Amino acid sequence: MYDLLALLLLIASVLGWILGRYSKTESQQSVISQKPIYFRGLNFLLSEQPDKAIDLFIESLEVTAETIETHLALGNLFRRRGEVERAIKIHQNIIAHADLTATQYAAALLELGQDYMSAGLIDRAENLHLELINMGFYLKPALQNLKEIYQQEKDWEKCLKIASQLSNVTGQSQKIDSAHYYCEQAEEAIKIYYLTDAWSFTEQALQMDPTCIRAILLKAKLAQQRRDYNAAIQYYKQALAQNPNFFSETASGLIAIHKQLNQEEALIEYLYELYTIQHDPQILLALAELETSEKKLADIELLFQAHLHEHTDLLTVKYFIALLIKRSTKSKNFANSQELLKIIQQALDQVAKDQQKYRCVKCGFMSNHLHWQCPGCKRWGTIRFSADC
Ligand SMILES: [Zn+2]
Repeated sequence: MYDLLALLLLIASVLGWILGRYSKTESQQSVISQKPIYFRGLNFLLSEQPDKAIDLFIESLEVTAETIETHLALGNLFRRRGEVERAIKIHQNIIAHADLTATQYAAALLELGQDYMSAGLIDRAENLHLELINMGFYLKPALQNLKEIYQQEKDWEKCLKIASQLSNVTGQSQKIDSAHYYCEQAEEAIKIYYLTDAWSFTEQALQMDPTCIRAILLKAKLAQQRRDYNAAIQYYKQALAQNPNFFSETASGLIAIHKQLNQEEALIEYLYELYTIQHDPQILLALAELETSEKKLADIELLFQAHLHEHTDLLTVKYFIALLIKRSTKSKNFANSQELLKIIQQALDQVAKDQQKYRCVKCGFMSNHLHWQCPGCKRWGTIRFSADC
């Protein structure tokens, strides 16, 4: 609505400008010939036909040094309104004029490149942005747009190259993003079983950003795959020491390895310690899965109760019911409640099925699984597990 109003005001002022310009500078004959454009345009605006007013504007206002800003502003407004074809027409119309200065030509090129991105014409957008970089104009937005284009194309090597150029141009570190580009390459290598290459990509990711949790988790996964269990445990613990918020990404690996090694007790001890640092109900759920004695399960129940006093969220209730079901199989006191608990569990599973458990700490985007690049704000590594989404 705001864009439409701005567009109408812009056109009205331009039509007024045409009238004024010709009234002052041209012959009486020109005034007579141009006045109808103004009145026709005004008539289109008043009769709520902005499209016709816009077409009239494009036809009647020549691209010159004086009018180029208006053309650029109009093209921009069209793109923001989602009318990309019209924006492209306007920006192509500007570029077709040979008498532009290099800066004006570059400004139109940047706009047209953005139009192509909005229209999904990625190859054309890429070429225009590369041309801008060769010309040495608008380096920062051109590199930022190219980075976005290569991310869309999942061309991680090009992303790395552009990130390095962007860091040189802006002085802003691109190391977090670059580490994720290496992780993307590591994941692609894992898919085709190029495990040595995958390992090397995780090393490069950590050289870029030694705190990259994703790279550490990938190392844990790779170590687990090659049955180097002790190394895998160390990597999982390293990831959690750095950020205990990623427990959901380590839980199944840690449990599987410790069961494989018959070292459940060691994991239980570690998880109790971890829970003192991070009150994540998933840790209680993991403990409930590992503990076998009725007394220990009763202790975990108390921890759950304390947790629920402070945070009543659906997922914790769901985990709590899972614990009660396990207790009901161990204790005669609970045996009668087992059927009822299972009914509650099924109902909770249904309700929690589409529960969004992950949230971006920067823009608040919510999802039911972990994205390493936020689909909302496009930042890397900003999404975390949150039981109370
Ligand atoms: Zn975000």
